[in-house]
Amino acid sequence: MAATFEMIEKYGDHEEVVYCYDKSAGLKAIIAIHNTALGPALGGTRMWGYKSEDEALTDVLRLSKGMTYKAAAAGLNLGGGKAVIIGDPTKDKSEAMFRAFGQFVNSLNGRYITAEDIGTTVRDMGHVFAETPWVTGIAPALGGSGDPSPLTANGVLHGIRATVKEHFGTTDLKGIRVAVQGLGKVGSYLIDYLKAEGAEIVATDIDKERCKEIEAKHNAKIVSPDEILFQDCDVLAPCAMGAILNDETLPKLKCKVIAGGANNQLAEMRHGDQLKEMGILYAPDYVINAGGLMNVFVELEGYSIDRALERTETIFDNLLDIYKISKKEGIPTYKAADTLAERRLNSIGRLRQKHPGNTSRQFNTLKVTDR
Ligand code: NAD
Repeated sequence: MAATFEMIEKYGDHEEVVYCYDKSAGLKAIIAIHNTALGPALGGTRMWGYKSEDEALTDVLRLSKGMTYKAAAAGLNLGGGKAVIIGDPTKDKSEAMFRAFGQFVNSLNGRYITAEDIGTTVRDMGHVFAETPWVTGIAPALGGSGDPSPLTANGVLHGIRATVKEHFGTTDLKGIRVAVQGLGKVGSYLIDYLKAEGAEIVATDIDKERCKEIEAKHNAKIVSPDEILFQDCDVLAPCAMGAILNDETLPKLKCKVIAGGANNQLAEMRHGDQLKEMGILYAPDYVINAGGLMNVFVELEGYSIDRALERTETIFDNLLDIYKISKKEGIPTYKAADTLAERRLNSIGRLRQKHPGNTSRQFNTLKVTDR
């Protein structure tokens, strides 16, 4: 037991960590609420075949803290939380498991709001919704917003525009050469948006069929997955996996700026310092890819695609604010993003302590029947 508490303390100042166990439903889960200074803690439920409980706990503590920063930097009235379910998502799922999990979420009375994540689906969240209103990213048929990827990609487009403005002094993307790594949900929607703006695309995916589709649809230049990061281009837009900015890749980069939707792009934080030294402007990943989070936030208020699109537009100003802090304080952009988030947590969090309830109006009144 002592080891568990030590781990929780080691990973920062979490407000609450809840172990969820239901034998008959086969549920073993952990919910971590990192911080609710700005609003209820929101973060998806990851289902993964963790090798140990310690591994699951480490993941949920790390991810929930990340959500606090993401929501704060996005300007949302949300805190940070996350949940993990221990199990193989391809074999161990059942309706009972997700309903039992929903009962635990419900017992937190809205302090934690869940959503889908790696290993869970909109369908799973439908089962959670049968037990609690504190779930978002549910199916449109249930009043939800469904797949967030188009909104994530829309936010990335605004983020690319802000980063291009900062580096090249223009918001016009016509003729700007963008290298897109990964043609999945985010990457392919992003290319739709970029082509509509007149950008020139070079792209890749390890899935050859996806490459063929994008080549045919947009007349995009396709290169091999080994070459994409080293293209001579204006913008590198990583939209596949994490840790692609590392000791091996950095010396070979030929892009001017990096602005893409993938999570955890920096292998280590020091690579962000190195990018600054190289004169490559890096759009911090958790800021530029916050469109999906903004989309589920709008769902909590009662979903409207127009309001969701208005929200994702704010990523433009959020990034410009970060670039301003970075220049003024002489720090790399990833640190400037943390600084912006921490300042908002302190200043707005303090205001909410004085007058609790004002900024959480929309969530406090939410009922199952409202959606
Ligand atoms: P996805 O699984 O739909 O697409 C990922 C694509 O990357 C796949 O087509 C895959 O074949 C390809 N890929 C994998 N390894 C590759 C490689 N080495 N080279 C080239 N292509 C490779 O996932 P997605 O939803 O589009 O998410 C993409 C990234 O954006 C992920 O890092 C994800 O965490 C992040 N993200 C997604 C969302 C969202 O709303 N979907 C929100 C925030 C962040």
